[in-house]
Amino acid sequence: MFDLERIIRPNIKKLQPYSSARDEFKELTKDMVFLDANENPFETGFNRYPDPQQTGVKQLLAMQKGVKTDNVLLGNGSDEVLDLIFRAFCQPEKDSVITLPPTYGMYKVLAAINTIKNIEIPLKPSFQLDYNSIKKRFAPTTKIVFICSPNNPTANSFNVEIIKKILCNFDGIVVIDEAYIDFSTQKSWVTQLADFPNLIVTQTLSKAYGLAGIRLGICYASKEIITVLNRIKPPYNINILTQQKAVEVLSNQHKTSLEIEQLVNERQQLTEILKNIKIIKKVYPSDTNFILVKVDDAVKRYYQLIKKGIVVRNRSNQILCDNCLRFTVGTPKENKKLIKILSEL
Ligand SMILES: *Cc1c(COP(=O)(O)O)cnc(C)c1O
Repeated sequence: MFDLERIIRPNIKKLQPYSSARDEFKELTKDMVFLDANENPFETGFNRYPDPQQTGVKQLLAMQKGVKTDNVLLGNGSDEVLDLIFRAFCQPEKDSVITLPPTYGMYKVLAAINTIKNIEIPLKPSFQLDYNSIKKRFAPTTKIVFICSPNNPTANSFNVEIIKKILCNFDGIVVIDEAYIDFSTQKSWVTQLADFPNLIVTQTLSKAYGLAGIRLGICYASKEIITVLNRIKPPYNINILTQQKAVEVLSNQHKTSLEIEQLVNERQQLTEILKNIKIIKKVYPSDTNFILVKVDDAVKRYYQLIKKGIVVRNRSNQILCDNCLRFTVGTPKENKKLIKILSEL
């Protein structure tokens, strides 16, 4: 049985969080005089500290995802969210996490930064989860399983029933990283928060929303988990410019939806065309905004593409990804250029 109290790090349980001026006095009415935070009083639109709870952004997200604002925590990119999760639940030098390579490289880096053992359980050659091997590593000191679905770099989504089995049988936190969910045919796990008290879903505005530059990562979880993470997050982690831009873009879903539709269309077309290119041995099906391909010689093709002015990602050092390159889906014009150059190699 999942017991949140058991898995919170003891020092975090005892922590007296920093209380900011804006935490202690929240009613920002126009006629109040604010002499509490040592800010510069001359009005620029930016002279005040940002809302530490990012109420405007959270209200929009909560409404759109069908959750409550206290199921939401925002970070300076998903990377900050993932780091907060490590620091809330994993004791350095003692605890471990499970990751499922080939996958997003940040989980491993964050484990190393926090001196947490990273137990790697490779996917099956089909790029699906190897439940029997994962299950064997469940232990009281194993605090988190990171599941990236759709997965980067393999581009597929994982079997829902197996994810459910992990959620039901693991006593620690299950993080489902949904950075690519907006390009997927799968349903988001955000709607399942009430059923799984150990579930954390992370999303980002960096991919489908076209806002990688503003750094906004989102964490959805039970109110209890969010309360723990809120205790350790830097008070003003989301700046005013980011909050304003996020509200603007989230209020105009239509534009984002059109772009997603176009990118998914481009992805389908690109997938079919890539299958007929001589140097490409395999095109993996994609549920994301990128395509993984196996080529004859990844290093050679990677440098040839650079010479022609196209930068792609060489993933051939990762397990199960021998000679694999990852192509982000670009604009129609960029994709045509990629195809032309690949065909001429
Ligand atoms: C791109 C990506 C992210 C996004 O990270 P941000 O810090 O929000 O930009 C998260 N997870 C995965 C798997 C990604 O590929």
